[in-house]
Amino acid sequence: MDLNLPLLRVPGVGSIYAQRLKRLNIFTVEDLINHYPFRYDDFSKITSANEAKIGDILTLQGEIWSIKNTYTRYGKVLTQAVFNDGTTSLNLTWFSSPWLTKQIEVGDKLQVSGKLNKYKSKLSIVAPQWEKLSRSTQDTSSVSTYPTVDVSIHTGRLVPVYPETYGITSKWLRTKIDKLLPLALSQIEDFLPDDIGERMLPLPQALQMIHFPKNREDAKKAKERLSFDELFFIQLATLKVRMEWQERKVVRIFKIDRQKLDSFIANLPFKLTRAQLKVIEEIITDLKMGQPMNRLLQGEVGSGKTVVATLVMYLTHLNGLTSLLMAPTEILAWQHYDTVKKLLEPFGIKVGIYTGSRKFTENLESRIMNKAFKKHNSLFLSINSNPDVIIGTHALLSDKLTTTDVGLVIVDEQQRFGVEQRSLLRLRAKVPHFLTMTATPIPRTVALTLYGDLDLSIIDELPMGKRSVKTYVVPAHKREDAYKFITKKVLEGDQVFVITPLIEESETLQSVKAAKKEYQRLQKEVFPGLKLGLLHGKLKSQEKEQVIKKFREGQIDILVSTSVVEVGMDIPNATIMVVEGAERFGLAQLHQLRGRVGRRKKAGFCLLFLSLEEKDSIYRLKNLEKFDDGLKLAEIDLKLRGAGEIYGIRQSGRFNLKIAELFDLPLIEKARGAAQKIIRDNPKLDKYPQLQSKLQSLIANVAPD
Ligand code: ADP
Ligand code: MG
Repeated sequence: MDLNLPLLRVPGVGSIYAQRLKRLNIFTVEDLINHYPFRYDDFSKITSANEAKIGDILTLQGEIWSIKNTYTRYGKVLTQAVFNDGTTSLNLTWFSSPWLTKQIEVGDKLQVSGKLNKYKSKLSIVAPQWEKLSRSTQDTSSVSTYPTVDVSIHTGRLVPVYPETYGITSKWLRTKIDKLLPLALSQIEDFLPDDIGERMLPLPQALQMIHFPKNREDAKKAKERLSFDELFFIQLATLKVRMEWQERKVVRIFKIDRQKLDSFIANLPFKLTRAQLKVIEEIITDLKMGQPMNRLLQGEVGSGKTVVATLVMYLTHLNGLTSLLMAPTEILAWQHYDTVKKLLEPFGIKVGIYTGSRKFTENLESRIMNKAFKKHNSLFLSINSNPDVIIGTHALLSDKLTTTDVGLVIVDEQQRFGVEQRSLLRLRAKVPHFLTMTATPIPRTVALTLYGDLDLSIIDELPMGKRSVKTYVVPAHKREDAYKFITKKVLEGDQVFVITPLIEESETLQSVKAAKKEYQRLQKEVFPGLKLGLLHGKLKSQEKEQVIKKFREGQIDILVSTSVVEVGMDIPNATIMVVEGAERFGLAQLHQLRGRVGRRKKAGFCLLFLSLEEKDSIYRLKNLEKFDDGLKLAEIDLKLRGAGEIYGIRQSGRFNLKIAELFDLPLIEKARGAAQKIIRDNPKLDKYPQLQSKLQSLIANVAPD
C-alpha cells in the first residue's frame, strides 16, 4: 500500500470520513498511522464479575441476554443490555447510540471493558467498550473456556485513545489503523542511520507499538523512538537553517564606534544594568561579524529590552543604515516610538512611526487633538524625510512602505507574530541583522529545540531590583474582601488593572463583549465611586490612545482590559493586577501580567480569580503564590500544559510537536547530538536521501526566507 495514498481512495474510508479526517490534518495513509494516541485506557485486567470490586476498571467476557433502546424524559436514547459473564448478570448502558441494537444481538458473545459500578443494587458498566468474540473461538458461556482474544483492539488490553473530531471516534480510528497498519508498515523503512538508531526501537515496530502496545513498557519505548524522531528532525532543520544563515554575507560589516557608544550610554537617564551591558556586548559581537545576527533577546517585563534595542538601532544608524522595529500592537508601537524618539533625537536621528491607520507622524498628542488629520494626511511626515528608525506594527510589512538600506530588523514580543510575518519583514532588508525580543522565559529545552536556530541573550536582572508582587489565588467567597481592598488602595492613590478572560487565542468579539460586561458590572455594582476605563483590541486606535493616556495621567483608577492589549504596557503607578478567569492563562503569561505592577519600590499585588474553581486549576495557579521565578514557572507550565500553550507554537506554526515533550532534556540532547554529527559528516545530507526529503517540509517552516 502506497503511504501517500489519499484516504479517500482507501476502501472502507469513504468521502464523508475522509472529509472529517482533514480536520485532524489527516489526509493520507501515512498521516493516519502517524496519528498517535495521547493516552491508553488500561483494560488489560480480564476477570469475572464475581471477583471484581466496584470501581475496578476491567474486562469481562460473556453473553448478551437482552438488549433494547429506551428513551429518557428528555428524549435521549439509552441502549440497555443485560450481560452475563457466567458468574453474574450486569447491566450495560450506552447513551445516544441507538444503532447498537442492530450491531449487538441477544446471544452474542462479547468482551466488554469499562468501570464496574453499582446502580440500584445492580452491577453495571456505563458506556463500555465492546467487541465480539469471534465465532470460531467461542463455544460455551463459561469464563474459563473463552480463549484469550489477542486480536482485540477495543477491549481487554491497553486501548489507545486518540485526538478525535466530530464524527471521528477513537473506536473508528482504532479500527482503521488496525486494518491499515500491517500494509503500511511493510512499506516503511527506518530512515535513521544505524549508529543513531541503535538501542531504540526500529521505526515500524515503534509505530506498531505506539498504537497497540502489549504493556506500558512497550508504549514507553515506542514513544521514545517517535519522540526522538520528531526532535531529531527539528534539530536537523534548525542546524541547517543556521548553517545557511551563516553562509550569507551582510552588506556592510559594522564598525563599532566605542566613543560614541560610551557617550550614548553616559547620556541615558539611568545606569545600564550589568545584564543589559552583557547582552549589548553579545549583540556587538554579532554586528562585527560578516554574517547577519540572528538573535533572540529574552528579558522579563521591565528588564529594559527597549533601551538595548534602541542602542542597537543607534549603532545601525552610525553605520549608515535604517532600522525597523515591529511591535505587536499599536499601543506598544506608540510607546516604543515615544521612548526611542526621546533617546535618539538628541543625536540627530529621525524616528518615524508606521501603523495601520497612520504613517510617519511627528507628535502623538497633537494628532489626537487634530481631528482633521484623518482626512488630510497633514501631519504625516513625508516619506521623503527618510526616517533613520521606523517603528510600527505589522503595517511595516505593507508594500506601501518603501525603505532602502535597512540594516537591522527588530521584532518585539516575537511570539505574537507568525513565521510568515517575521520572514516577510526580513525580506525588507538586504541580509539584515535580526533581533527578536520576548518577555516569555525560555527553558533550556525549549531554547534548544524551538529556537535552536537562534542565538539567545538573556537579561536576567531588573533595573529596580527584584520587585515584590504578592500574589493570591482568591476563592469566590473572598471576592468582596478583595474589592474592598482594591477600593482602599485606590483611595490611597494606587491604580489597578483588571484583565478579563482570554476566550480564544486571538481577541474575538466574544472577548470584547466579556470585557465590556465586566467593565459595566464593576462600574455600576462594585466601584460606583471610582473612575473606570475600558480597553480592548477592537477600539479605534485613537480611542485606545486616549484611554491609555488617561490611565497614565491618573484620570482613570481602574483599567479593565482584555489581555491582548496589555503586553508591555508600562504604567508606573499601577500596583494591583486583577486577572479574571486566571485558569485560562499559562503561569508564565500570568507572571508577565503581574510584572506590570509593583515596581518603583511600591509593593504590588496580583489577585487571581477563577471562572471555574477546579482543584487542578487552583493547584496550578498556587505556583504563582509560591514562586517568583519566571523560568521556574515556565518549566512548570511546560509540564502541565505543554509547549503549544506557552510558546504560541500553534499560531506561529513553528514546529508541530505531536508526541515529543519539551521538557525531556536527555532526549533533546541526544537528538541534538545525533543531528550535529550527521550534519558535520555530511552537511548536504546527500548520503541520506530519506532524511533530506523529510527535512524539506520542515525547513519550509523555520526558514527565515
Ligand atoms: P521591557 O521592554 O524589557 O519590558 P522596558 O525597556 O520597557 O522593559 O523598560 C522598562 C522601564 O525601565 C522603562 O521605563 C525604562 O526606561 C526603564 N529602564 C530600562 N533600563 C533601565 C535601567 N538600567 N535603569 C533604570 N531604569 C531602566
Ligand atoms: Mg517591552
